[in-house]
Amino acid sequence: MLSLLMLFIAGCKKEPKSDNPFFNEWDTPFGVPPFEQIMAKHYMPAILKGFEEQKSEIRDIITNPREPDFNNTIKMLAYSGELLNRVNRVFGALNSAHTSDSLQAISREIAPVAARHRDDINLNDTLFRRVKSVYDNREKFILTDEEKKLLEDTYKDFVRSGAALSPEDKDKLRKINEELSLLQVKFGQNLLAETNGFKLIIERKEDLTGLPPGIIDQAAAMAKSLNMEGKWVFTLQVPSMTPFLQYSDRRDLREKLFTAYFMKGDNDNEFDNKEIIERIANLRIERSKLLGYNSFADYTLERNMAKTPGKVFEFLGQVWNAALPVARAEAAAQQELINQEGGKFRLEPWDWWYYTEKIKKTKFDLDDEITRPYFKVDNVIEGMFHVASKLYGLTFTRRTDIPKYHPDVNTFEVTRDGKHVGILMTDNYPRASKRGGAWCGTYRSQRRDIKGNMVYPIVTMVTNSTPPTADKPSLLTALEAETLFHEFGHALNNLLSNITYPGSSIPRDFVELPSQIMEHWVLEPEVLKVYARHYQTGEVIPAEVVEKLDKTSKFNMGFITVEYLAASLLDMEYHALTEQQDLDIREFENRAMEKYELIPEIKPRYRSTYFNHIWAGGYSAGYYSYIWCEVLDADAFRAFKETGDIFNKTVAAKFENEILSRGGTRDALESYIAFRGKEPGIDALLENRGLK
Ligand SMILES: [Zn+2]
Repeated sequence: MLSLLMLFIAGCKKEPKSDNPFFNEWDTPFGVPPFEQIMAKHYMPAILKGFEEQKSEIRDIITNPREPDFNNTIKMLAYSGELLNRVNRVFGALNSAHTSDSLQAISREIAPVAARHRDDINLNDTLFRRVKSVYDNREKFILTDEEKKLLEDTYKDFVRSGAALSPEDKDKLRKINEELSLLQVKFGQNLLAETNGFKLIIERKEDLTGLPPGIIDQAAAMAKSLNMEGKWVFTLQVPSMTPFLQYSDRRDLREKLFTAYFMKGDNDNEFDNKEIIERIANLRIERSKLLGYNSFADYTLERNMAKTPGKVFEFLGQVWNAALPVARAEAAAQQELINQEGGKFRLEPWDWWYYTEKIKKTKFDLDDEITRPYFKVDNVIEGMFHVASKLYGLTFTRRTDIPKYHPDVNTFEVTRDGKHVGILMTDNYPRASKRGGAWCGTYRSQRRDIKGNMVYPIVTMVTNSTPPTADKPSLLTALEAETLFHEFGHALNNLLSNITYPGSSIPRDFVELPSQIMEHWVLEPEVLKVYARHYQTGEVIPAEVVEKLDKTSKFNMGFITVEYLAASLLDMEYHALTEQQDLDIREFENRAMEKYELIPEIKPRYRSTYFNHIWAGGYSAGYYSYIWCEVLDADAFRAFKETGDIFNKTVAAKFENEILSRGGTRDALESYIAFRGKEPGIDALLENRGLK
């Protein structure tokens, strides 16, 4: 009675508001982070307090005098660290989407401390004994399927984090983890500096030869934003670089720009990433061995659908063998065109986009500039909302009363049948404070709180799409539109998640299924009709353009596949190494590519020194996941097609119930089979890419 009364008093006592917004309840709409109140100085004290709080929660678990059970150990552990999680999500998201010198300094400072904190939990003997005891006695408890999976994952994560090691090995592991955490931060920061560090500045109009007016406007706008009015600037950001490579008649400038791109992090300057890579690769080998695995790939893949490196190599090899001859033929066609035009040179990587574009134009009478006016960013977003509404009955309502961290952010409330589902933010354009690429994350993930109340997701999708200019809105390429649909697929996975416990994670080689399946709708004629309207006239994209888009969908697929697979193989080559060794990064990369007979006209999509996915992102020994998941998404989309209705509600409901809503709470293959009734084959993938 006494304790109840005390709780009641504590509950009533109004805490004075702290200066640090992380220590207050967020009374913003839907509990969105109060971005305008959060300053760099707030992170460190909040993270440190977060560590303290979680430590004390862990102490409560291990000093509990009762026998360990699911509720007093596994559940309490899953719910520990709430403050830390809250700060980390905001910090991590903003450090990627809108960083600054101070945020970067904090991330360097915090990385080793955070690694130590994680190890303090993962390597805690008493805690592990309790977890193990619950796991060993699992038959005695009555648990839901989600609880069984959480228990198994928790136990395995402890073992995989080194909980069963000797004290000396634990010490070694701690040191490795700390060093790795710092190296990864440094890698990403070097990459951002290298990306921002190069600009192709054009001063004379005649040097713009070949470029379409829209691209020239964009380069002028970029120059203006950099106080170089009257000039034209191209950067290493994809929406700026790619059109230049596609259209510029100036071969020397294409070479200059593309060389700067593929040499990022490899310039022997203060931002060089080669030594960092060598060290990361070796530390990962050492760590994996310590934990009883042959290689980092063995360690990582155990938790993925693929299970073993052999399986991944075999799968990649199959697609590689289908794609390489196609890429060779594409290169030959380009060389032929060069020869016909009287060019006395050999096709080089910086020529590929240019000649591809020319051939595409002749063959299909189509280029990006014809379709851009129909892909105004707001219309594409409306299109993806339309698809989500048809499939899942979701409604998206723009909200302007919700805090945001940058003026480019748009915020939507997501509802279904009038009920709140979550919040979605979009952030579309490149800027110096944003890292490259596109991603989706959460400020708050869906779960139930410890009392069982629903916690609604706050989701953010970030891209680097073509920005607006002074007189034109943002007009996307078809590929950029596809990227938006991709990230939106991740967003739907988060929004439609329906799980109880926090902390379950989806295997890397399954998580791209929800995102990639969305790409199938973007160019469907039925969908284009709804959103692809000319930004000036409102005219729906003409049927003949739609037809051309469809015909070009398999064009250049040899290149696209090989470029991607080369990076995937490079990732696997590093991470399948079983012995520590001196690594000359350039040489290692060259030898790896020679082994697969990559043609010199194609560079891997990412060279080692800017392969953020594998050195600083979560895709180490996992970059293959995209094409692995394509087997799944190609087959899953067939499930819709087979009914003759790409919006079939029954199939959609099944996809939501068996896959989207489950998160990582069930084995991935089991979920897939529950949806489709069988395992997928590689056929649909090869067919979609025109490789068979
Ligand atoms: Zn993705």
